[in-house]
Amino acid sequence: FVANVSHEIRTPLTVMSGFIETLQSLQLEAADREKYLELMSVQALRMQELVNDLLILSQLEGSSLPSTSDPVGLEMLMSGIESEARGLSVSQRHVGDEPQILHFETPKGVEILGVSKEIYSAASNLVNNAVRYTPAGGLITALWTLLPDQRIQFSVVDTGPGIASEHLPRLTERFYRVDPARSRETGGTGLGLSIVKHVAANHGGEITVWSSPNVGSTFALRLPVYSPEGVI
Ligand code: ADP
Repeated sequence: FVANVSHEIRTPLTVMSGFIETLQSLQLEAADREKYLELMSVQALRMQELVNDLLILSQLEGSSLPSTSDPVGLEMLMSGIESEARGLSVSQRHVGDEPQILHFETPKGVEILGVSKEIYSAASNLVNNAVRYTPAGGLITALWTLLPDQRIQFSVVDTGPGIASEHLPRLTERFYRVDPARSRETGGTGLGLSIVKHVAANHGGEITVWSSPNVGSTFALRLPVYSPEGVI
């Protein structure tokens, strides 16, 4: 794990050191200097995201079932996730691309018991992955459904590239990527699904994925609905 983390951090660091050296040694035009600074800030952001995800993961790994469960209002939670996802979708769109279609369905007035920031992190990782991996013009649907067994399910359905079945059992491993080059391009840390798996486990839930190459993927996070007396 330490070797993996070091490798993940070394790449952006090497790129940044290269740019710093260039800025120090060459007299650049203002426009070129801007370009290098912009590229450096992308690498700095990548390292920041990686460190943030590592901190979330280390907190999750140290905790068991949530000791402090609070009522988490789904509408409030989803409004943050939706605006983040729409912003991400716009920011990755190239000139001339069809926009992605994002569709959110959240039941009104529903609260679940859990750790708000953990559930936010899990749900936003699933939605942001769908946005990052789905090509222009694709459809991403995020919805909450109450299941007959008293659990609640958050599903994210996309029309992205899909994932071949041999990769599915390994997706939640830290730093496992189906296509490392593509994931790097779309800016992932390689820790997202690992975080989702831990959040699910900490809440007594589970994460399931169905996927067909060239058709799309569905990720479903199932959580028990807690009552103050325990699981109902
Ligand atoms: P990353 O930061 O690389 O996206 P994740 O842990 O979130 O890391 O996901 C692990 C891998 O699973 C990704 O690298 C990608 O190959 C695959 N993956 C995750 N979500 C999707 C999706 N919606 N469509 C296609 N592939 C996905």
